[in-house]
Amino acid sequence: MSGSEGQAIDIKGGATARRLVGSVTLVGAGPGDPELLTRKGYAALQSAEVVFFDDLVSPEIVEILPAQARCVYVGKPHHKAVITQADIIAQLIAAAQTGARVVRLKGGDPMVFGRSAEEIDALRAAGIPFEIVPGVTAASASAAAMKISLTHREYASRVTLVTATRREGALTDVRGLAGAGRTVVVYMGLCKAQDLQDALVADGIDGAWPVAIVEHATRPDQRIIVTTVSDLPEAVIRESVQSPALFIVGEVVRTYIPANLETTAAADVPIASVQK
Ligand code: SAH
Repeated sequence: MSGSEGQAIDIKGGATARRLVGSVTLVGAGPGDPELLTRKGYAALQSAEVVFFDDLVSPEIVEILPAQARCVYVGKPHHKAVITQADIIAQLIAAAQTGARVVRLKGGDPMVFGRSAEEIDALRAAGIPFEIVPGVTAASASAAAMKISLTHREYASRVTLVTATRREGALTDVRGLAGAGRTVVVYMGLCKAQDLQDALVADGIDGAWPVAIVEHATRPDQRIIVTTVSDLPEAVIRESVQSPALFIVGEVVRTYIPANLETTAAADVPIASVQK
């Protein structure tokens, strides 16, 4: 989409003024490794005049942001309201209304826990042309990092992507999500590990049920920690797991083989093995 070709007619107080309309592309940056940016996402960045990015965009990707673009950090570190979603939307629209090609770069896939719906609504309401470029979501990246299939034929025919935290801050209702035949990938769960364990156990899940913690998937400091439901909250503290990280809950985790044991059968893999 080219930036300044679109023109909108602004009618104010009977007078008609022309104003330039740029465009906004919501680009999924993927989980961190710049090689996992799509070609389309990369091309959008290369032709961008303004780029808005946040905390989930990895330092390695921030490093390759185009020099010609005005790059604006709109992160909310540790969920502190330094900048609100409404401010971000207002800035996006204001930038596009100068006629600029704007990229809104988001970690993972923009349509998975990315608050894209609100941005899309606002862009539509403002009459700004927009496009979405998908990215590799953290669940896919984490499964690839572990070399496990989220839908292993033996163990799971269903996958649920769930955010641990609901809008009001409470744990999402996870009843019925975990168990035989099901894989659950829990996003934004680090602060909710204890609540999650309680909810899973209350839902009848065995304490020995496998869980993987994947920290910084695809980044240079990626870690994979294999544990169980009963050890999960402890493991998060013991290993001082840092954001971004997610949990994979389900029997597919049993198919993980740590790199140093690649030649060993999966059944021999000790639980609670930690691997960098
Ligand atoms: N749109 C993103 C998700 C945003 S929600 C996506 O599709 O991946 C933020 C949560 O995503 C984090 O709290 C964490 O649970 C997860 N996440 C994002 N990047 C990750 C990574 N590289 N490794 C592990 N989890 C990650």
